[in-house]
Amino acid sequence: MLIGQKIHILGAGIGGLSAALALALRGAQVTVFEQAEVVKEVGAGIQVSPNGYAVLKALGVAEAVEARSPRARSMRLIDGEAGGTVFRMGLEPQDGERPYLFVHRADLIEVLAEAARAAGVQIKLLHHIENVSFQDGQPVVRTAQGAEAHPEILIGADGLHSKVRAALNGEAKPFFTRQVAWRAIVPTQDADPVAKVYMGDRRHLVTYPLRDRNQLNLVAVQETANWADEGWSHEDDPDNLRAAFSGFTPDVRALLNRVQSVYRWGLFRHPVAATWTRGQVAILGDAAHPTLPFMAQGANMALEDAWVLAASLAMGDTVAHGFAHYQAQRVPRVTRVIEAANKNARNYHLPSGPVRFLAHSALRLGTAVAPH
Ligand code: FAD
Repeated sequence: MLIGQKIHILGAGIGGLSAALALALRGAQVTVFEQAEVVKEVGAGIQVSPNGYAVLKALGVAEAVEARSPRARSMRLIDGEAGGTVFRMGLEPQDGERPYLFVHRADLIEVLAEAARAAGVQIKLLHHIENVSFQDGQPVVRTAQGAEAHPEILIGADGLHSKVRAALNGEAKPFFTRQVAWRAIVPTQDADPVAKVYMGDRRHLVTYPLRDRNQLNLVAVQETANWADEGWSHEDDPDNLRAAFSGFTPDVRALLNRVQSVYRWGLFRHPVAATWTRGQVAILGDAAHPTLPFMAQGANMALEDAWVLAASLAMGDTVAHGFAHYQAQRVPRVTRVIEAANKNARNYHLPSGPVRFLAHSALRLGTAVAPH
């Protein structure tokens, strides 16, 4: 039932573009409204796990993404203070399994946007949507310039501060988790294709290589009482990052000494939206279920959402039934993943002492379930 259907999507991020492509490939006429003046992403990495890769493959873009992205060999949990590997998990695909990739966000967005345009998707830039409401059950979208649109079908892929989510659920108040994060890209050479998680007392740091393995993506998290803003683009003094990890091993400190510019933001927990769809309207990705980054699954979940949403619409006898099927399929899965991400913060941040000793010993012996 998608052939010729007119669908509007709000947001040209990973979720919006993958949904646009999935729907266009099934015959829909898709228009995307994006507030930015160009389709782009921040300079940072993203781990695309086999579940996300499966969606890229189905969308016909996996090879293009892989051509720019190293395949992961393994993930290592390392005691960041005492040194030494606590746990290692192989990530190389065996016997036809799908790979695990380290992807530059800008590359993923570029590949998705190019494929979406080639499939006939129109991406309208500089369209900031100020308000989404319902009139007689139908969605009404108002742009910052005051223009009104009356989409037949509307999908909100407009991220953390989604207007569509607010129209469906009202405003939800996220709470500060008392954790701040830094992100940086550090030039390097021929880095191992390994995700390294350095764990310490109330803090951890993750690195993995991007592109030709000549850049290291670095994300560091510290528990703190000091409130920080949620935005992704606040520059910070690299010395603050170095000071937070001054108790880590010399190799970590040497890496941090090479950081020249860094961004810092606060980590907030948002509830999974109670209502994902009403009539001809639905939400996906961070608009529906923002997650803490401790499972590296936010974008992978957005990719899964996009595929399931398009498949549900294609097989539903009405749009409302298709959207209801999509929500029923997705809620249990994303809720499980988000709960696991919330728990990982605790696993990574154990203070030194008997609890950490026992937890690390269990991991070394392979008797504990490793964080993903
Ligand atoms: P977004 O990427 O936020 O896109 C929303 C789009 O909508 C944007 O283009 C925005 O400009 C546009 N928009 C918003 N409001 C409006 C409006 N009013 N009008 C018009 N346009 C609008 N996930 C992984 O899977 N793997 C990882 O390794 C990983 N690492 C992460 C590391 C960190 C440090 C963080 C913070 C997150 C990480 N994530 C990861 C999560 C991932 O980044 C997000 O879950 C994912 O980007 C969500 O995609 P989205 O398309 O739903 O939203």
